[in-house]
Amino acid sequence: MQGRGWTLVVGGLLSGAVLAAEPATAQPVTVIRAGTLIDGVSGSTKTNQTIVIRGNRIESVGSGAAPAGAKVIDLSGATVLPGMIDSHTHVFLQGEEPSKGGYDVQLLKYPSAYRAARAVVAARRALEQGFTTIRDVETEGAGYGDVGIKRAVEEGIIPGPRMFVSTRAISTTGGYNLEGYAPEIVVPKGAQLIDGPVEARKAAREQLENGADWIKVYMTHRSWLDAAGNLQSQPTLTLEELKAIVDEVHGWGKKVACHAYTNPGMKRALDGGCDSIEHGLELDDAAVAQMVKQGTWLCPTIAAYYGYWEPENTPAGKRDRKRAEVHGPSFRRAVKAGVKIAFGSDVGGFSWDDPIAKEFPYMVQFGMTPMQAIQSATSRAAEMLGMKGQLGVIAPGALADVVAVSGDPLKDVKVLEKVVFVMKDGSVFRSAQPSP
Ligand SMILES: [Zn+2]
Repeated sequence: MQGRGWTLVVGGLLSGAVLAAEPATAQPVTVIRAGTLIDGVSGSTKTNQTIVIRGNRIESVGSGAAPAGAKVIDLSGATVLPGMIDSHTHVFLQGEEPSKGGYDVQLLKYPSAYRAARAVVAARRALEQGFTTIRDVETEGAGYGDVGIKRAVEEGIIPGPRMFVSTRAISTTGGYNLEGYAPEIVVPKGAQLIDGPVEARKAAREQLENGADWIKVYMTHRSWLDAAGNLQSQPTLTLEELKAIVDEVHGWGKKVACHAYTNPGMKRALDGGCDSIEHGLELDDAAVAQMVKQGTWLCPTIAAYYGYWEPENTPAGKRDRKRAEVHGPSFRRAVKAGVKIAFGSDVGGFSWDDPIAKEFPYMVQFGMTPMQAIQSATSRAAEMLGMKGQLGVIAPGALADVVAVSGDPLKDVKVLEKVVFVMKDGSVFRSAQPSP
């Protein structure tokens, strides 16, 4: 109960009404001089822009002079863009190497405080890389730890991005790790397992009650190649189970993210009315058409499937290559058909020391323009999160989340890996002098 009361207070602080009640003169004014501006919405750039920030909000953007007495940040040699949004992260995963115990060791041997300490570092890494907002899609056995990390960020105890959290995630019996242990031994599971619509709805209620902003559902589990060499994955929840969750979550005014690789789990996810498809490895024309019709978001996480491949001549190795092979064309099909796409990296699945922005070149390789890719990580993602006009845009009234890179990301999206300036909520977190 206490947690929820606190959340409401934070929400209140973000509202215009509360801000208006505060005398404008009491808030510090900062001006950013932007050499090139990508505002997150517009298809073209502007040069030599002055961004006026009062408190934690952008007040104006234009070519005018800085107001007297304002603190000036000179980014006239840089490209300035909105703070980026990663819509698929796991702060409670650290890209565990199989040689160090892989996924399982985290649930079996690591004290929760140890995992929380690492999550604190992960949150900081997101911000350092210019990702000022993340949607963290489940804690992998760390319970409601994400709600705690989010709270610590919001209270200014630790540096980190704005967080939309989904707590424990939901799958079915036989539908999630840990697996492969003797049946007599009870091992922890990386998600909350349910069977039947009643349990499904109850799990969603529990997670929402305890702070979930989104509910994450695994609609497929594992993947392998069948005799014909096609990618397969095991469907988990039934349509009825998913519908119970979606109905409950939508009643709370929240949304459902569905991990889905292939049919039939993919089809159930779409028929069940999920709000975002995570990964979406194999999207046929029918799936893409249904996503367009229903307004379903795609959060692709392409780069993650190029990271770690088992040896080529093994079943797992062939599977790993096939996943990457089908993903690109699926993404291309979705871009072409006009599916709404939000940038997601699945960082945590790989090390937080790797660049999150390594996803951008894959998006461009498979059919997006660099500007579309940037918008998927700014205004589009903000729209998915219900924060249109507040996040992912540099415009009057938006929250002052601003980053800068020294090169031109429209020529080479890889420069987004090297963010030189990060402001979140009007406060400068990182400021390296961009090279001229
Ligand atoms: Zn993930």
